[in-house]
Amino acid sequence: MAVGVLALQGSFREHIACLRKLGVEAMEVRKPEQLEGLAGLIIPGGESTTMAKLAEHYHLFPALREFGTSGKPIWGTCAGLIFLADKAVGQKAGGQDLLGGLDCTVHRNFFGCQLNSFETQLPVPALVSEEGGPSSFRAVFIRAPAITEAGPSVEVLAEYTVPSNFQASSLDQVEGQEELQKVIVAVRQKNLMATAFHPELTSDMRWHRYFLKMVNGDKNLECRKESSMMGL
Ligand code: GLN
Repeated sequence: MAVGVLALQGSFREHIACLRKLGVEAMEVRKPEQLEGLAGLIIPGGESTTMAKLAEHYHLFPALREFGTSGKPIWGTCAGLIFLADKAVGQKAGGQDLLGGLDCTVHRNFFGCQLNSFETQLPVPALVSEEGGPSSFRAVFIRAPAITEAGPSVEVLAEYTVPSNFQASSLDQVEGQEELQKVIVAVRQKNLMATAFHPELTSDMRWHRYFLKMVNGDKNLECRKESSMMGL
């Protein structure tokens, strides 16, 4: 079983390293024909406009859409989430072509600019803690997007409670939602999964394991934190 990582720009090397640490064959994808035979695909974080332009340049859009509509799992992280969304809003949004498929509206730079990047302990009920109690994940948000609207077929895997002292001007840019207290930062819709943060930049492999279970068609998606076992 081989899993591809879209390798046009962004943090594709980090995702590949995670997959290989988990013993999975990982392939860089830059050309449409490299999608053939892959069991799943990760679209990494980076810069979504650049990624979309490169995908256009390499004639990847039809093959990527076909890959998703055929039911093969795709996981988008950060810019990858934006790329998978049906609609993007916010600063500089609108000009780029999106892959789409995820019934969501995403605010491209919801959490502000690079300087507003942050880490937080995020409650994620879908991931099982080592102790069996409530689970959380150390999430790295880098110039991160957030989902401000999700359709009924979208399963919310994690939400972030926006602190009351949140300064980023982007909150005002979410039309009609100035009072927004919680935003969605991880979702699943059938074969599509998306996270607004970067699990590939941590040593906690539970999101990668979660995705690999989707790739394996496993209905039992609970993943245990096994980073120490994997020597990570
Ligand atoms: N907000 C960025 C964009 O618009 C994504 C940032 C990231 O992937 N870390 O593409």
